[in-house]
Amino acid sequence: MSARKSKVFVITGPSGVGKGSLIARLRKEVPEIELSVSATTRSPRQGESNGVEYHFLSPEDFERRVEAGEFLEHARYSNNRYGTLRSEVERRLVEGHPVVLEIELQGARQIRTTMPGAVQVFIAPPELASLRRRLESRGTDEPSAIEARLKVAEEELAAQGEFPHQVVNDDLDTAAAELETIVRSKLSDS
Ligand code: 5GP
Repeated sequence: MSARKSKVFVITGPSGVGKGSLIARLRKEVPEIELSVSATTRSPRQGESNGVEYHFLSPEDFERRVEAGEFLEHARYSNNRYGTLRSEVERRLVEGHPVVLEIELQGARQIRTTMPGAVQVFIAPPELASLRRRLESRGTDEPSAIEARLKVAEEELAAQGEFPHQVVNDDLDTAAAELETIVRSKLSDS
């Protein structure tokens, strides 16, 4: 397998910053890149289906897979568990696709150890208030869950400097172009 084929991109940033929209744009522009479908114990939101947005697991099944070493990384976030299954990433790499992981901070830190060659990009909001506006207008979380997400967001923003690449999502087009430039330069490096 060539180095080019083994590229893994980690996209991290606070909830509501627009990671999902930026990754959707990236996949449109760089169609060979594939998104790893994470596992979670949280309940599906309206419109989400099992195996598409997430593999929705019971807490028991999640824990069983942790014990069996099935995760490349896993973390607890807002009272739920989230993790990247090795099988999700390895299958795509074997098929020759670069893989993108959309994960929170604790998981990104673990990936630095388990996959030191992965390219880590932090997506930051122009200011904290914009996260609140986005989370409220998205309408997918209860007010208490929004407050919990904003508290975690402050901790995540404090860790931004750990990331070699940072993109501020003020204007979606500009941020998407910056992310694409980072990804294309890494893909052509190898
Ligand atoms: P949400 O509940 O909004 O879908 O996701 C909550 C947070 O969990 C987001 O910051 C998202 O990026 C993160 N997340 C999603 N999948 C994973 C994963 O596999 N591992 C880790 N560590 N975080 C994840």
